[in-house]
Amino acid sequence: MSQKEAKEIAEIIDEQIESIKEEIIELKELTKPVKLDASVGRLSRMDAINNKAINEKSLREKKSTLQKLERAQERAAEGDLGKCLKCGNDIPFGRLKIMPYTTRCVQCAGR
Ligand SMILES: [Zn+2]
Repeated sequence: MSQKEAKEIAEIIDEQIESIKEEIIELKELTKPVKLDASVGRLSRMDAINNKAINEKSLREKKSTLQKLERAQERAAEGDLGKCLKCGNDIPFGRLKIMPYTTRCVQCAGR
């Protein structure tokens, strides 16, 4: 990976961290305890509870992605990004652009 490409990936990581942090803040808002307001009907309450479960799942996934991104940020700072941790081969630039936190090349990820 060239320096220019490494810089581009580092920028993508920064952007993704920023946006995922915002999403986490929103999801935390949405996963606050459901108020059992007497003015809403039973169905709306069920909806609210279902949505909360979906949002909680999404929140867990986002938090885990954020951790991966932060680790990728550290690797990028050390210049280790873009190498497959399993076989040591370069991870294709196109793959890193989509999943900058990936630590495996396509072959190793598929195994
Ligand atoms: Zn590999």
